[in-house]
Amino acid sequence: MTETRAVRPRSMPSPVRRPSATVSDGGSPSLLSDLDVATELLIRATDAVLVGHVHPDADALGSALALGLGLERRGVPVVVSFAEPAEIPESLRLLPGGHLVVPADEVPARPDLFVSLDVGSVARLGSLGRLLGTARQSLIIDHHPSNTRFGDHHLIDPTAEATVVLVARLLDRLDVPIDLAIAKNLYAGLATDTGHFRHADSGAHRLAARLIDAGVCPAELLLPITDSHPFGWLTMLSHVLGAAELHHEAAAGRGVVCTRIDLATSSGLRSEELDSVIDILRTVQQAAVAVVLKQTEPQTWQVSLRSDPPVDVAALATELGGGGHVRAAGFTHHGDPDDAVAAVLAVLGR
Ligand code: 5GP
Ligand code: MN
Repeated sequence: MTETRAVRPRSMPSPVRRPSATVSDGGSPSLLSDLDVATELLIRATDAVLVGHVHPDADALGSALALGLGLERRGVPVVVSFAEPAEIPESLRLLPGGHLVVPADEVPARPDLFVSLDVGSVARLGSLGRLLGTARQSLIIDHHPSNTRFGDHHLIDPTAEATVVLVARLLDRLDVPIDLAIAKNLYAGLATDTGHFRHADSGAHRLAARLIDAGVCPAELLLPITDSHPFGWLTMLSHVLGAAELHHEAAAGRGVVCTRIDLATSSGLRSEELDSVIDILRTVQQAAVAVVLKQTEPQTWQVSLRSDPPVDVAALATELGGGGHVRAAGFTHHGDPDDAVAAVLAVLGR
């Protein structure tokens, strides 16, 4: 299998489809769909900086790398970055396109086009939010319903299961073949953001089939991303799961399960190990909401929220200063973790 093998669906057009009016020719903007505008911006870009959210997951980084590889193939000078951490998370290092990644402080200061991918708010860009003020134009590509519509142009579709779904649509418009390197990035984001295809409609499954036809081996690709942990993970799990609390009556009797991971417990472990805890908590039958508080600094806690229908944790997180999706959201809390839990229970009790 080579990295350049390309599979193109029969329905894909070969020339780039041009909308009837363009971004800057004075045509009525109403004639243009968001996808048309985003495509035009990418066609016209003389150089681009693509940025995912801080502590990128497979959807954020996979989106940026897939689009970055696509633009590179079209001859556009492009870099990919994220504000934190300083390096690509270990579990994502095998994603193709790592040569495009530059440290946040080496990103070109005044790019022609700044593209934000899988980022719901300016805060989630971290220090790279500065590019919104210095780039000639900005394009926000995202699927978070809580997206605050920062920046100049928007391709935001909350019905898309993952940001990579939107990137795949753009690559088709740009007539970039989905080769294996791009397909791996798209598949990684699609599989992880859909809970390994539990929350995926038939369109997402068709995209997955196309990516597998391009050569992706799902088990091999996902092994380092979601299916492999060091032994210390078990010690952490036994501690953190053993301390979980069930609030039976919370959320109008639907139940809330909660635990916390302090700095001592997470010492020596990767964010990959810590992120796995919420996936276990959310399976608890007596709770429709799962809450994990991760201490990131002595007085700072990152709070992860997951819900079963009909509880909307995007609304909950937004009210507490964060954001996310209806079924998966989060916010940052400064101070006593008990206060964060109390705030969550108070909002859910209304
Ligand atoms: P996780 O619990 O996996 O960190 O995050 C779940 C979802 O909530 C992700 O879609 C993520 O983008 C969003 N999210 C988590 N923390 C925050 C936050 O502090 N602010 C915003 N706006 N979204 C967040
Ligand atoms: Mn996403």
